Amino acid sequence: MKHFGTTTRLIHADRLINRPQHGAVHQATNNSVLFEYQKAQDLVDVFQGKQAGHVYSRSSSASTVALQNILNELEGGVGAVTFSTGMAAISATFLSLFKAGDHLIISQFLFGNTRSFSDTLQNLGIGVTYVDVTDIHQVKQAKRDNTKGVYLETIANPVTQVADLKAIGEWCQSHALLFMLDTTMTPPTMFTARTVLASLVITSLTKYIAGHGNVLGGAVIDTGLFAWQTFSNILPIYQVADTRQWGLTQIRKRGLRDMGGTLSPEAAHSISIGLETLALRTERCAKNALQLAHYLQHHAAVVTTYYPGLTQHPQHLRASELFTSFGAILSFDLAKNIDPLAFLDALDLVICATHLGDTRTLALPVAATIYFEASALQRKQMGVTDNMIRLSVGIEDIDDLINDFDQAFTRLGGV
Ligand SMILES: *Cc1c(COP(=O)(O)O)cnc(C)c1O
Repeated sequence: MKHFGTTTRLIHADRLINRPQHGAVHQATNNSVLFEYQKAQDLVDVFQGKQAGHVYSRSSSASTVALQNILNELEGGVGAVTFSTGMAAISATFLSLFKAGDHLIISQFLFGNTRSFSDTLQNLGIGVTYVDVTDIHQVKQAKRDNTKGVYLETIANPVTQVADLKAIGEWCQSHALLFMLDTTMTPPTMFTARTVLASLVITSLTKYIAGHGNVLGGAVIDTGLFAWQTFSNILPIYQVADTRQWGLTQIRKRGLRDMGGTLSPEAAHSISIGLETLALRTERCAKNALQLAHYLQHHAAVVTTYYPGLTQHPQHLRASELFTSFGAILSFDLAKNIDPLAFLDALDLVICATHLGDTRTLALPVAATIYFEASALQRKQMGVTDNMIRLSVGIEDIDDLINDFDQAFTRLGGV
């Protein structure tokens, strides 16, 4: 598959990688929870990892494995594990790999629920230091003797800060630290995590990958770049012959099997259908986002527009080097005299909703919704202002989007 372009690979992946039965172009959706073994010894061998196979669909099924194979191929990794949601993937990874007494360096610009979950980690005795990941010096300064890993997002939401991914990847590698990268905002059609030496790619499949707001999912993909032998938390039973599989083996057993956040076969199927058009959707979303960013940036009722594709964005150059497009998340601060809720109510086409990565353009008032649990100080650290609106730009005709914003501004008297 390597010699094909991304769009071709996405469309033919299921057929070419998984070779479904009967010449089908999709992997069949099989809902069986249990799997029969004619010989008891075979069941024993599968249980003990001596033979490949499925024993109970909480741990694996043909449908989830088929999706995992495609996700792994897209990242050029050594394996993938899927979960019922992105948060299930994140929480299972942390809880299966770290323990009380460990320390983690985590981005201060973080998806709200991940931030809230990392507070839970601290209650369990795992130390966390939040840093500004656009600055490698802050990351380096946070290291302690017990630091085990670094966790951050490629493009942060809602202010679109772009982390210093290359420098952080190199630093993690030279200090044998696990580099965990949430790539939800930058799916594999616009960014290859291997190029910045990420160890584990963690992603919500719910957003761009599935793309249509009809299914939840999450995944962890191991790039094969981390030397698990140097990681002291892998239990002896998971130290399998292939050292590159140590991390995922522990995540599969402790994080998926024991914690139970399994992706259903139907969800795996829906996600793989969404994946087929990922390249087309992300390209169109990014094109629309850039045009909308230019429109908003010049509007008299907008104070600031945050989008990595704008030349005045603090990490514009870095984003141009790292990604093939600037993505489709953009935020803006409305002028003080415009109430963000009234503005959202005045939009006719754009949907007021808390989701992103959809085919439809979505908008939400940031401070009062996804960050309402955060303190004023935390919001300030993340760059979130009271009058901020976040957009997830979809694939509509751009004129329709701009007309919708125009009529909303006019209705509110904001020029
Ligand atoms: C949405 C999101 C998640 C969580 O994914 P779910 O599938 O909604 O659980 C994690 N990280 C980022 C950056 C997200 O945007």
